[in-house]
Amino acid sequence: MTGDTQRKYRADYQPPAYLIDTVDLDFEIRSDRTQVRATYAVRRNPDANDTSQWRLDGRDMQFLSAAIDGRALDTHEYALSDNALVIHNPPEIFTFVVENTIGPEQNLSLEGFYRSGDILCSQCESNGFSRITYFPDRPDVMARYTTRISADAHKFPVLLANGNCVDSGTLDNGRHYAVFEDPFAKPCYLFAMVVGDLGMIRDSYTTASGRKVDLRLYTEHGNEDQCHHAMASLKQAMAWDEDTYGLEYDLDSYVTVAVGSFNMGAMENKGLNVFNTACIFARADTATDSDFALVRDVVAHEYFHNYTGNRVTCRDWFQLSLKEGLTVYREHQFAIDQGSPGVTRIRQVRTMREIQFPEDGGPRAHPVRPESYVEMNNFYTITVYEKGGEVIRMIAQMAGRDAFIIAVRHYLDKHDGQAVTIEDFVVAMEESTGLDLAQFRHWYAQAGTPRVRVATDFEDGRLQLTLSQHTPATPDQNDKPLFDIPVEIALFDAEGAPVREAEVLRLNSAEQSWTFDGFDAEPTVSALRGFTAPVRLEYEQSDEALARLMAHDSDPVCRWDAAQALYLKTLVADVSARREGNAPVAAPELLFEAIETLLDNPPADRELLAEMLTLPSEAMLGEQFDAVDIFAIDAARRELKEAIATRFAKRFQALADTHAASSAYIFDVAEAGRRRVFAVALDYLATIEAPGLAARAAAVYDGADNMTDRMAALDALRDLNAPERQRVLDDFAQTWADYPLVMDKWLRLQATTRRDDSVERVRELLADARFDFTNPNRIRALLGGFVRGNRVGFHRADGAGYALIADEILRLDSLNPQLAAALAGMLTNWARHVPAQADGMRAALARIAEAELSDNTREIVAAGLEQ
Ligand code: ZN
Repeated sequence: MTGDTQRKYRADYQPPAYLIDTVDLDFEIRSDRTQVRATYAVRRNPDANDTSQWRLDGRDMQFLSAAIDGRALDTHEYALSDNALVIHNPPEIFTFVVENTIGPEQNLSLEGFYRSGDILCSQCESNGFSRITYFPDRPDVMARYTTRISADAHKFPVLLANGNCVDSGTLDNGRHYAVFEDPFAKPCYLFAMVVGDLGMIRDSYTTASGRKVDLRLYTEHGNEDQCHHAMASLKQAMAWDEDTYGLEYDLDSYVTVAVGSFNMGAMENKGLNVFNTACIFARADTATDSDFALVRDVVAHEYFHNYTGNRVTCRDWFQLSLKEGLTVYREHQFAIDQGSPGVTRIRQVRTMREIQFPEDGGPRAHPVRPESYVEMNNFYTITVYEKGGEVIRMIAQMAGRDAFIIAVRHYLDKHDGQAVTIEDFVVAMEESTGLDLAQFRHWYAQAGTPRVRVATDFEDGRLQLTLSQHTPATPDQNDKPLFDIPVEIALFDAEGAPVREAEVLRLNSAEQSWTFDGFDAEPTVSALRGFTAPVRLEYEQSDEALARLMAHDSDPVCRWDAAQALYLKTLVADVSARREGNAPVAAPELLFEAIETLLDNPPADRELLAEMLTLPSEAMLGEQFDAVDIFAIDAARRELKEAIATRFAKRFQALADTHAASSAYIFDVAEAGRRRVFAVALDYLATIEAPGLAARAAAVYDGADNMTDRMAALDALRDLNAPERQRVLDDFAQTWADYPLVMDKWLRLQATTRRDDSVERVRELLADARFDFTNPNRIRALLGGFVRGNRVGFHRADGAGYALIADEILRLDSLNPQLAAALAGMLTNWARHVPAQADGMRAALARIAEAELSDNTREIVAAGLEQ
C-alpha cells in the first residue's frame, strides 16, 4: 500500500479546527516550476473540539516556507510530511503565508495543476487542491479567493481564474499577469485556473432581472466552430433554470474551457468550468445525435451546479449526492423538456437497470450516502449520481412538482453560502412540503435494489393488487429495512383502453393490497409507470398482456418496457435451454405479431419506435441470471435478431427507405428520431447480410452530411466481411486524422468488432500512433469500448481478454490511478458469471493485486477479491 492509507468514516466527522475567510493566491508560472505563494486570513473555529493543531493538506509539491503574521516559522513550530503540513498551537486569529512550488508540466495525474496539450489547467474536486498548495482540503472550509497569475505572454496569452478579472498588465521579460476576484465564498474544490494559447467564442445572456452575462468558451485554436452547440445549450440551460426554478446566474461572466485530457466529463468550478472536449465539441459532421445530447446535458448539468453544489455545497465528501443527485435530477428534467420526453426517460431508466443495478448488486454496492471510503475518487459512482437523482425524483413526485420546486428554493435560501449535509436537505424538504420522510431516509442509507413483487387476483369484477418488497443483502448490510416506495399504476381493458387513471401507490410495509372494483373482465396492469422508483419489478405478465401494453400503454416507458419484457421472456428461455444443453428455443408467434402490430401502428415519436425495435442489451439480459453466460446470451440475442430481421426484411428495407436523410442535418426530436429508425433498420438488415446492404451502407457513408448517419453506416458494416468495410474505415481514418475525438469513434468501432482476433487487434491499436496512452478519452474508447462493447472478445475462452485488461491496468496505474481503478471495476463482478468466466476474471484481479498499486486501484481490487 502506498502512503498512510486510511479508511475514512462518515461517523468520524469533526468540524475544522480553523476557518479561513480569505485566500490570496499568487502563481508565478515558469517553464521549469510554478511558484505558489498563498496568504490566508485564519481564525479559530468556535465549534471545533481540538484547536491545538492546524492541519493543511499538501501532496506532490515542494515546501519552501511558512509564516504566521509575517514571522517565518521555525522547524519546531510545524511538522511536514508527504501529505500534510501541521502547525502546532496556532494563535486565535492570524495571517498565514505559505510558499511552495509545483510542476504542472510533469503532472500527468490530471489532478491539481496539470498540462493538457499546450494548456495548463487545474482540477481540484475532490482533493486536487492539496496538489496546488497547502490548505485544509475539505469542502467545509469556505473562503473568498483572489488569484494572481503571471506567465509568459507569448506561450500563455490567456490567463483565467474564478471570478472577475480586476487587474491585468504586462511585466518584464515578455511576461504578463492578471488578477481575479471571486466574490462568493467557496470550498477549495471549486477553485480553478487555466493558462494557454486559446481560441474563443463569445456570446451573452441577459438574465430575467437584466444582468448581462458575458459568456466565453475557450478551446485550442482551430476548434471554435465545434463549440456553437455547447454555447447554445448553455443559454438554454440558463433560461430553463430561470423559468423552472427562478434561479438566475450570479456573476458577470461565465467562462468555459474545453481541454483534451480530462478524467471526467466536466467540472463546475465557480464561474470557470473546465470541460472534457468530448462534452463540448459537437458539429454535424463530427458528432452524432447522442454526442449532441451529451454536450447539451453536461453543459446544463455544470451550469445547474452553480446553485446546487456551489452556492450550497457539501459539508464532507460522504454528502456528495447532496450536489450530484440533485443536479442529475435537474439535468434529467431539463433533458426531458428539450427532447422526446418518453425516450429521454427510457434512456435514464436503461442506465439505472444496466449499470446502476449491477453496481448495487455487486461487491462495490454502497448507499447513495456512503459510510466509508479509502479513495474518494472511487465514489463518483452511478449510485451516488443516478440513483441519487432517482431518490430526488421520488421526493419530487411525492411532493408534486410545484411544491418540490418551492422546497428546493427553501433549501437554497436556508443554506445559501453553507456546506451542509444530505440530512439538512431532507429536513428542508420536510419543512417546506410537509412530507414525513422518516422511512424514506432509508434510500440514502441503504445499498441494494429493492425487489417489488406484483400479484393480482381477479374475482367478481374486482381486482386485488398486492405489492410486496424485499431487498437482498449487500456488503456490510444484511438486514434491510422496509423502504417507502412510490409505485405508479394504471389499468387497461382488453382493447387497450384505459379503465383506471394512473395513480401512485405507496408501498411502505412488507406487503400491501389495493382493490379496484367494477370490471367486466380482468384488466391489464401497467406498473411502475415512468419508473417511479429505482426498484426491480417482479411481475409475471402473460405474453398477451405484454403485447396489449406494448400496443396501447399511454406511458412510453411502460410501452417500451412491455416490448422489452416480451423480448426478454424469449431470450431468457433460450439462454436457459442452451445452458442446459437443450435445443434453442424459438420465439413465439405472438412476439412477431406484436412487432407487426408495432410496425403497422408505429408511435408518432420515431425515437420511441426505434427503442421498441431494439432488443434488450446483453447487460440487461445478464441481469436476468444469477450466473451470466456471455456466450449463451450472445448466441440467443444474435439469433433472435436474425429471426426478426428475416421475418421483417422487407419492412426494414422500407423503413430504411422512408427514414433515409432527405434534408440538411438538424438536431431536433423529429430528425434525430428519423435517424435512429434508419440506423435500427440498417442494423437488422446487416444482421442477415441482406443483399445490397454493404453497398447501401457504403453509399450512406459517402453521401451523409452528418456523423449520425455516417456512424449508422459504419455500425452496419462493422461485423461484415465485405470489402466496403475496410474502404470506409480507411477513409474515415484519413478524413479525421486531425480530430482525436472523432478518431475515438474509429478506435471504438474496431474494439467492438466481432472477430476471433479482436484482442490482438486491440493490442495492435494500443501501439498505433493514433492512440495515446496518456489520454483518458483514447483509453475509454479503446479499452472501455472493448470491455463493454465486445463481451465475446473480452470473455474469450482462452482468457486473452482478461490478460489484456490486467496488463493495461497495471501499466496505467502509476500514470492515472483514477482511470486504472475505473477499468479494474470492470473485473470485479466476476462472481456473477459462470465458472469458466468467473475464474478467469478473478485470476486477472488476483494478478493485479500482486503488484504495488495506487490506493484507488487497491481499494477496488480488494473489494473485488473479498467476495
Ligand atoms: Zn455534477
